[in-house]
Amino acid sequence: MTTILNTLEAPPRYIPNDPRPSLIGMTRDALADALAKAGVPEKQRRMRAGQIWHWIYHRGVQSFAEMSNIAKELRQRLDEEFVIGRPEIVTEQVSNDGTRKWLLKLAPDERGARHEVEMVYIPEADRGTLCISSQVGCTLTCTFCHTGTQKLVRNLTANEIVAQVMTARDGVKDWPSDIEANPTPPLGGRYITNVVLMGMGEPLYNFDNVKDAMEIVSDGEGISLSKRRITLSTSGVVPEIPRAGAEIGTMLAISLHGTTDEIRDKLVPLNKKYPIKELLAACRKYPGLSNARRITFEYVMLKGVNDSPEDAKRLVKLLAGIPAKINLIPFNPWPGTQYECSDWDTIERFAEIVNKAGYASPVRTPRGRDIMAACGQLKSESQKIRAKERLALEAH
Ligand code: SAH
Ligand code: SF4
Repeated sequence: MTTILNTLEAPPRYIPNDPRPSLIGMTRDALADALAKAGVPEKQRRMRAGQIWHWIYHRGVQSFAEMSNIAKELRQRLDEEFVIGRPEIVTEQVSNDGTRKWLLKLAPDERGARHEVEMVYIPEADRGTLCISSQVGCTLTCTFCHTGTQKLVRNLTANEIVAQVMTARDGVKDWPSDIEANPTPPLGGRYITNVVLMGMGEPLYNFDNVKDAMEIVSDGEGISLSKRRITLSTSGVVPEIPRAGAEIGTMLAISLHGTTDEIRDKLVPLNKKYPIKELLAACRKYPGLSNARRITFEYVMLKGVNDSPEDAKRLVKLLAGIPAKINLIPFNPWPGTQYECSDWDTIERFAEIVNKAGYASPVRTPRGRDIMAACGQLKSESQKIRAKERLALEAH
């Protein structure tokens, strides 16, 4: 049974045509610069930026009024110049397995359009994983992925990426004050212990915003999620992989899904541009790669397409010498798809071959399928706004 917790019940969290920029998503330097605008003298800027950072990212406050160690006049100035709100929650659904999915409506972008993205929280016995989106839609067209049927609408800003994590913390009550007030602490002390960039979009095609957002999310004086607990999943944008290791520094997951170029060309069309050999060469050189910092290879199990014992053997051969984990993902169906999920026996046989070769190969239990929250099922109704619609909006 699916529970829809709220549908447009919550008050809209943004004021129409609000010109004030949000402080969420600004790097520390950008935040200090923004304070200059609110009249904070240069000498005080770093200190004030530190205080505000703490309120926003450590405490999770949603208004300047709550920043009690900041003088009232400055709080008022800040409120005149900036916002620190969250995106609007359109729906929050809870699956019968505890998985939650939120549909978020973003503040209007420069074209006046309000787009929607989905994010998913997956509680497990020893961890809580938040799956966030990096783009509205996707430029790529992987044939087994629901998001791939939605054209790229636009990149998410660093603000919108960070705000997903903050909105999820609000939703599952995971701010330090919530946890302190909670007589039964969650496992590991937190509800959200891991973040994966595995929602909508290709994170390496939105490099700079993803980079800034991950810097903020992992900042030890704020949300404080270690980069070892953040995983960026890419379909294989080879030229950006070394930069991702050097500049973003999170864990890496590669959507491999095929063991020959012939198969992978069909599943992940980007393979025609960056074939398997080049992709794996980039992985072998991934900065920081070690047994303690392995690359996860994701492999979706598609009946009769990529799930034979020969595929499993080829997979093991391909990855030889790369410190790797293999994540077998049962295909999650969506309306209109041409694929089916492999039979359970087939998946087990595949996993056994991979295990025998010495790879940990957990089969990812499908979570939240009843609310279309499982891997590859995310899609929003947002579409690229046409010029005519934009004019109509502007005239409004
Ligand atoms: N664009 C990035 C990240 C988002 S997709 C990427 O492709 O890696 C996150 C993971 O879900 C990827 O491994 C993707 O291949 C997988 N996926 C997509 N559609 C799926 C489906 N229908 N069933 C199972 N996994 C799917
Ligand atoms: Fe885009 Fe990833 Fe889906 Fe491919 S699998 S279409 S890259 S979101």
